[in-house]
Amino acid sequence: MLRTVLLGPPGAGKGTQAVRIAEKYNIPHISTGDIFRKNIKEGTELGVKAKEYMDKGDLVPDDLVIEIATTRLLEDDCKNGFLLDGFPRTVYQAEKLDTFLKAHGQKLDIVINLAVGNEELIRRLTGRRVCKLCGAGYHVASMKPKKDGICDLCGSELIQRSDDTEETVVNRIRVYEAQTAPLIGYYDNSGIIANIDGTIGLEHVFNSIVTAIGV
Ligand code: AMP
Repeated sequence: MLRTVLLGPPGAGKGTQAVRIAEKYNIPHISTGDIFRKNIKEGTELGVKAKEYMDKGDLVPDDLVIEIATTRLLEDDCKNGFLLDGFPRTVYQAEKLDTFLKAHGQKLDIVINLAVGNEELIRRLTGRRVCKLCGAGYHVASMKPKKDGICDLCGSELIQRSDDTEETVVNRIRVYEAQTAPLIGYYDNSGIIANIDGTIGLEHVFNSIVTAIGV
């Protein structure tokens, strides 16, 4: 049983670590960004609404995100815990999440905060490429695929996320600092935050997270 939130700026490695944590603790990985991207791909009404904000690097309105996240948390597979990646992103969302969990007799066990400096975030995000089909992540300089532009795992085309362009990335970091960074203090007050250096390499970051979780 583990109820956890992965916090950190865009490009801190939340998605990469989330997949591994979810696997180790056998809990669902819930990424609000992934839910929006799926809806955009499928052309749903939600997708059309979310895209407008995402392409600029702005946050999707709180009420919309809260509705999506809490609906997902009501699904059966969340009974024994969950890993939230990219939600909450504002203090308002965090308060609503707390209220929701309390109403269901639950609370967060730990909030993992991945810290990475701005220069490194920009390098990571603007160089990031993802597989169009399976979503596997690459980097043009530090995690090249074997064949240029082609996914090692499934052979599909690698693309750049439409919000990974330099202009949007700079705005996403600005938005993080203004709206999401205050969550560090919010969770620090509850004494459940673990601060992890996100620049020490994938394996070391993962091991530090497991140590912080402590089970
Ligand atoms: P991510 O994949 O987590 O980087 O999210 C991509 C984009 O989806 C963000 O830049 C936001 O526009 C939107 N988004 C994802 N999660 C949230 C959230 N909790 N609150 C508001 N917007 C979100």
